[in-house]
Amino acid sequence: MSHKNNPNKPKRGVETRLAHPPYDPMTMHGFVNPPIVRGSTVLFESTAAMEDRQSLRYSYGLAGTPTTRVLEDALSDLEGAYGTALVPSGLAAVTLPLLAFASAGDHVLVVDSVYAPTRRFCHQVLKRMGVTVEYYDPHIGSDIAGLMRPETSVVFLETPASNTFEIQDVRAICDAAHAGGAVTMLDNTWATPLFFRPLDHGVDLSIHALTKYPGGHSDLLMGSVSANEASWGKLLKMQTALGINAAPDDCSLVLRGLKTMAVRLHHHQQAALDLAHWLEAREDVLEVLHPALASFSDHEAFKRQFSGSTGLFGVVVDGDRDAARRFLDALEIFGLGYSWGGHESLAVLVDLSDRTIAKGPDRGSLLRLQIGLENVGDLQADLERGFAAMAGGDAQ
Ligand SMILES: *Cc1c(COP(=O)(O)O)cnc(C)c1O
Repeated sequence: MSHKNNPNKPKRGVETRLAHPPYDPMTMHGFVNPPIVRGSTVLFESTAAMEDRQSLRYSYGLAGTPTTRVLEDALSDLEGAYGTALVPSGLAAVTLPLLAFASAGDHVLVVDSVYAPTRRFCHQVLKRMGVTVEYYDPHIGSDIAGLMRPETSVVFLETPASNTFEIQDVRAICDAAHAGGAVTMLDNTWATPLFFRPLDHGVDLSIHALTKYPGGHSDLLMGSVSANEASWGKLLKMQTALGINAAPDDCSLVLRGLKTMAVRLHHHQQAALDLAHWLEAREDVLEVLHPALASFSDHEAFKRQFSGSTGLFGVVVDGDRDAARRFLDALEIFGLGYSWGGHESLAVLVDLSDRTIAKGPDRGSLLRLQIGLENVGDLQADLERGFAAMAGGDAQ
């Protein structure tokens, strides 16, 4: 909801705001953390209060409880947003604003390098609703004006791109979208509000999989959509119509995660950069897709817009997919698993077969690495095991 009541409103550093969510312990006998308030029914003093419930802060659990409200306010503050809607997964945070702003007959522009389940939703649901979805080049910049139609209602961005990490020119795309009367939404999961604030660059709705760094421990699923004032009403109306929200227990876990997110991210950032530099110097690596590396093709666009990098990047190894499978199967510390943003390192063999424009590297095999909080030397030794197995050598 609105951050009007946020006691931290005078701008403090982001680390301070992460450590002190907008909750006053003195309202709860001094307990440092907000209580977990679960609930469906909310009781009213009288029939008069019941009939006037629109003016009450809480009237039914589906619209949130004092616990979920603290997380909403914390995220609105971090994103510079008017309001934040919480939903049960990151994917639901993608689908909610698309459902709120795309109607039958509309045309929607989605970046081709988007998170694959976002494309699946466009294909399986938006198409059936009579929405035309067109995919655009992540490097399109202001030329997106040429794709705008009178009926274009949404321009969807994600930067850095899923798996291939292209950087979009957010301001140029948003300016063109707004000139054509469309709203803009951006999946900001990779950077978190610590390193990028989409609303400051002209985006209307910022999307997060809180499952990733905000949760931070691979033990929950949640998503958020933070909106500017102009977009908030329509978003909230759709959330209410769909009957979705997030569970107070999980919100309490995300609030816990936020308190250490800055510290964790600074470690993820440095460990990932150390390994990315080591990887790019290897003979058996063709390319490292990490936006903060000077060698990365979109590095300038990254530096201009982002204040830091996180722990997820791509590495193109010099081998076919079977060689890449040998690499992955030899790993002992890196887990083979989806999602990322937790404490533990993960690796996957990337599949870009859904792409139509941003098709990724044309040689070698693309692996995606999530660098966790383990000892960096141990992770490097684990990757060495992978390279040895890829070359057909014995696992060390
Ligand atoms: C993981 C992810 C999501 C979806 O989050 P879930 O909570 O797993 O549904 C959405 N967008 C991006 C960019 C992601 O990486």
